Amino acid sequence: MFEGLTGRLGDIFDKLRRRGALTEEDVSAALREVRVALLEADVALPVVKQFVTQVKERAVGQEVLKSITPGQQVIKIVHDNLVEMLGEGADINLNAAAPVPILMVGLQGSGKTTSTAKIALRLKTKERKKVLMASLDVRRPAAQEQLKVLGEQTGVATLPIVAGQDPVAIARRAIETGRREGYDVVMLDTAGRLAIDEELMAEVAAVRDATKPAETLLVADAMTGQDAVTVATNFNDKVGITGIVLTRIDGDARGGAALSMRQITGKPIKLLGVGEKIDALEPFHPDRVAGRILG
Ligand code: GDP
Repeated sequence: MFEGLTGRLGDIFDKLRRRGALTEEDVSAALREVRVALLEADVALPVVKQFVTQVKERAVGQEVLKSITPGQQVIKIVHDNLVEMLGEGADINLNAAAPVPILMVGLQGSGKTTSTAKIALRLKTKERKKVLMASLDVRRPAAQEQLKVLGEQTGVATLPIVAGQDPVAIARRAIETGRREGYDVVMLDTAGRLAIDEELMAEVAAVRDATKPAETLLVADAMTGQDAVTVATNFNDKVGITGIVLTRIDGDARGGAALSMRQITGKPIKLLGVGEKIDALEPFHPDRVAGRILG
């Protein structure tokens, strides 16, 4: 069983005499444990290194507070730094002319289609928006059908399926339908692949150019761990994302992917997928994810 960082640091500091200030030696010993804890939580190595350097700069020489032990103090510094680096969550940006296009991108199996329907339902119920969903996935025969079923479950309209259209044509038809029929938001669920490939990126970029989305949300599986960096870097460099939806945070993942993706892209984590159910979507709270990463 994984031992949380709190327990590990407690052990180290129990051995140390209480001093007036945290010495470099105390901090170095603690940071070795922090490094292991972050790697175990699947934070990417370059992000771990950057994090540890920041904490060290902050911690060395800090006066030990009377009310807490040095171990607790280091944990507080680590926690505060994590919260800061994770950044605040953010609302879905709907500041554009209606129908506002929202582009959903990510690898196959990341939870993209489910998240599309979850967000549509949320916009419908919480913000009273009239939402149209369209699947641009012409590779997986069942993909467009899957979104249609989710639309029926949630009471959100889906664009009628027309066989033989390419993703850009479907996206254009979705926006035109949205305009003609008075929709507030059009959600475009793009195709995924099992791994990043140039063709996927080119396809998504073509849809982006044709629709000028107000949001391009990268959907990523919290369980992907170290791979999160490759996925986030590629989508951000080649398509340009505006935010992240992290799914399967209900599973065993410690949430390190959140820190990696945020650091590498600088883009906010907007929502968390917390289950298979269609309403299992939550706003992002950095302190909760920080607690989970630290264990
Ligand atoms: P896509 O290929 O990216 O469109 O992925 P799907 O939306 O089809 O999701 C793949 C699987 O992951 C489905 O079985 C979903 O029910 C499941 N899934 C999606 N989001 C979550 C989540 O937040 N938590 C859990 N536990 N399962 C999820």
